[in-house]
Amino acid sequence: MTRSPKYSSQPTVTMVRDSANRYGTMQDMNILVVGGAGYIGSHMVQMLGQRGCEVTTLDNLSSGHRDAVLCGRFVHGDLADTALLTGLLAHGKFDAVMHFASFIQVGESVAQPAKYYRNNVSNTLNLLEVMQAVGVKRFIFSSTAATFGEPQYTPIDEAHPQRPINPYGRTKLMVEQALADLDSALGLKSVSLRYFNAAGADPAGRLGERHDPETHLIPLVLQAASGRRPHIGVFGRDYDTPDGTCIRDYIHIEDLCQAHWLALQHLMDGGGSEAFNLGNGTGFSVQQVIDTARAVTGREIHVVDGPRRTGDPVVLVADSRRARQHLGWTPAYPELSTIVAHAWEWERRATA
Ligand code: UDP
Repeated sequence: MTRSPKYSSQPTVTMVRDSANRYGTMQDMNILVVGGAGYIGSHMVQMLGQRGCEVTTLDNLSSGHRDAVLCGRFVHGDLADTALLTGLLAHGKFDAVMHFASFIQVGESVAQPAKYYRNNVSNTLNLLEVMQAVGVKRFIFSSTAATFGEPQYTPIDEAHPQRPINPYGRTKLMVEQALADLDSALGLKSVSLRYFNAAGADPAGRLGERHDPETHLIPLVLQAASGRRPHIGVFGRDYDTPDGTCIRDYIHIEDLCQAHWLALQHLMDGGGSEAFNLGNGTGFSVQQVIDTARAVTGREIHVVDGPRRTGDPVVLVADSRRARQHLGWTPAYPELSTIVAHAWEWERRATA
């Protein structure tokens, strides 16, 4: 799967919050994107570059792809490397750090917890300590719905108790808690964005999801549609939902990135530390995702029913009113069919 990325050296200048006219332009911002070669990070790097920011990506390429970094400077390195981090941040004059570099597989986190605590917690603390040492005081953190654990009510707002049920969720919650303490002690301002189910691809077709191994539903369903996989396995049909399959809130990758952009504005404007849940507020079952993929692709998709996957909550749907109210966030691509269509375009290019 090779692609030739198109690097745009002509960033477009984006007016920010024109209605309130408080920020003017943000094209002079200088942002470090940690994990910028990964799925969400690479879309973010592209958005920052298109909006005229100076962007540096730091990535160890353990799961990311160098050719997914379409603009800015690329530094190959690891968060465990304190000397590298110190050199980079001391000279980088960064206005803010966005942190996307983490391990994300729930099942793996159960089997190999130390790997998750080491990378997602220790290495993040390393980064935060170096930021503190060199005086970078704005941080945007990729958190997750997995910090909530088994939902006690739905949709899940920010007041919902956070009781994660697997090491992955616990690592993310630990960082959220550390961020609150770092603000109290040192004035580090952060925004934690709790993603529900990130999905879709760059509407222009330059970027998409490329996990290896792929574990997420939408790319797997589309790989079954394209013929890259023989079928899609459905993890459980005996849940207490209308069709018996689990329900999730799928959010377009561009909308996620837009929320980061608005969070950045919030911090640049002197805003305080916050956490927001990010989803569309509408749940779709696994079967509905498969049906949507059949409609979008026009392809037959073979389904094989299997047992439940350990640790899957039955329903996860976000209440994102807080992000809408406080950040002025409005998803541009809330329709599942659009999310699937953009992901399908990416899959078609990958298999062309
Ligand atoms: N799922 C499935 N088959 C797959 C992958 C996922 O049935 O091959 C289901 C999974 O059990 C969950 C939903 O699809 O109910 C979304 O899973 P995904 O791994 O994409 O995201 P998660 O909700 O775990 O973050």
